[in-house]
Amino acid sequence: MRLILLGPPGAGKGTQARRLLERFGIIQLSTGDLLREAAATGTSAGLKAHEIMSRGELVPDDMVVAIVAERLSRPDCAKGFILDGFPRTVGQAEALYRLLHDKGLSLDAVVQIKVDEDILVQRVEARVKEMEARGETVRADDTPLVLRRRLAAYHAQTEPLVDYYLRKGLLVSVDGMLPIDQVTAEIEALLAKLPRAGAG
Ligand code: ADP
Repeated sequence: MRLILLGPPGAGKGTQARRLLERFGIIQLSTGDLLREAAATGTSAGLKAHEIMSRGELVPDDMVVAIVAERLSRPDCAKGFILDGFPRTVGQAEALYRLLHDKGLSLDAVVQIKVDEDILVQRVEARVKEMEARGETVRADDTPLVLRRRLAAYHAQTEPLVDYYLRKGLLVSVDGMLPIDQVTAEIEALLAKLPRAGAG
């Protein structure tokens, strides 16, 4: 099973990805997490990425694609994967198509998680308060101002992927405003209907 989770920041992509990987025994690949790891290494590329991310903008395609290409070449991706936060631009989607095509692979589905944006902002604010209450470090880009920039980047650069994958016949959509368990159930029901579901 090779899946993409598509949706604005705070839509619950990470939460749903973690549940689906338990269910399907595949791995989750979050470019946000991979970029934060790269930033923590302190290399010049990592520091550049960190600066861009804390502004709420998108890291250049070539850097993200290189990270994903390296990750997808590892053996633990053989059974399948869930991409969370990638692709985020049409250029990245095309690069992903080529990467998979070269390995004789293709995507099974792109799951769009639809949300109401006002509620989204409230969710992120609540998440920040909960993390602060637990004494956890809050991400530098989880402030209301930077979240608005991330949403703007989503609309300008990522939302065109909805049409892109619709035209490819890969898009399925779920209502991300339902309770977490119901969103998972909806996604599982949609995946069960796919012609190649479970085929690896
Ligand atoms: P969220 O989905 O909540 O915005 P992520 O952890 O997926 O959080 O991403 C955090 C930041 O990492 C993004 O705002 C962006 O700067 C950077 N990033 C993550 N994935 C990509 C990508 N595919 N292309 C460009 N930048 C990315």
